[in-house]
Amino acid sequence: MTGYIGRFAPSPTGPLHAGSLVAALASWLDARANHGQWLVRIEDVDTARCLPGLDQIILRQLSDCGLLPDQPPVWQSQRSALYQRALEQLLEGGLAYPCTCTRRELEQAPGRAGEVRRRHTELIYPGTCRNAMTHHPTANRKAATAWRLRTDANPVIHWSDRRLGRQQQDVETEVGDFVLQRADGCFSYQLAVVVDDAEQGITDVVRGEDLSNNTARQIMLQECLGLPRLCYLHTALVLGANGEKLSKQNGASAIDTSQALDALNQAASLLGLQTQGGTLGDALDSWIQAWRQVWTPLYNPVP
Ligand code: GLU
Ligand code: ZN
Repeated sequence: MTGYIGRFAPSPTGPLHAGSLVAALASWLDARANHGQWLVRIEDVDTARCLPGLDQIILRQLSDCGLLPDQPPVWQSQRSALYQRALEQLLEGGLAYPCTCTRRELEQAPGRAGEVRRRHTELIYPGTCRNAMTHHPTANRKAATAWRLRTDANPVIHWSDRRLGRQQQDVETEVGDFVLQRADGCFSYQLAVVVDDAEQGITDVVRGEDLSNNTARQIMLQECLGLPRLCYLHTALVLGANGEKLSKQNGASAIDTSQALDALNQAASLLGLQTQGGTLGDALDSWIQAWRQVWTPLYNPVP
């Protein structure tokens, strides 16, 4: 075992489909290729969007495919105390603040027209309550509709992705002060992921390119919380027949794990690996070898 710890972090909003199996397989292969550990984290922080029982279905699908975590899975819904502590730390440091804007106010703020919403992305927040805060730091606590991170201290984040190369994002202008906790108490994906990745000792994130736009926000949060930076590899998107990202919304059906090798072969070929016959174990082993050829020579973790 090396110091490498990777993870697969499914949201239990549906069973694994061809697209999510690619993310699972890629993260598993990268962990194995690096002689590391592979963890599974159920991202059920937004309980309203999660369907009961889906966590067990996903875990079963993974094990049917031979993708077994090296530690017992964790559930975000049981980890609120960790997220609360991180939010308190940010508030004490003056890095987060209560926002009292209503949904209507947010939607009607200037410059809204034509804004494109991406996965895990809100409307760009113009900083209204941040500016009010500067004079009365705790005035809005009671009326908060959300708690947001200040993105104006070091707004431009630079990082290097193992596939996409050098990246940068101006979080303040491209995203705005983003939500850490909603008024209903639900912690945001960004806060939960960053806290959990650090708490679980994750060193490497391997996930689909649709999530790459979240990376700068997550690095910014790591910096604000004094947490280590991770290495990132965003794999190519899996597109459906309509050319859109494959998702439950455009009809991606659950993988059939009674035919686990077929499902894995499909995922492997989407990752540019050759299809394999034989046993599941043999196929997985040959993909680990192939993955090492493609991804480990290039692998120089650069912060
Ligand atoms: N749970 C997140 C999602 O399914 C993925 C989190 C991650 O890999 O960072 O969108
Ligand atoms: Zn506000």
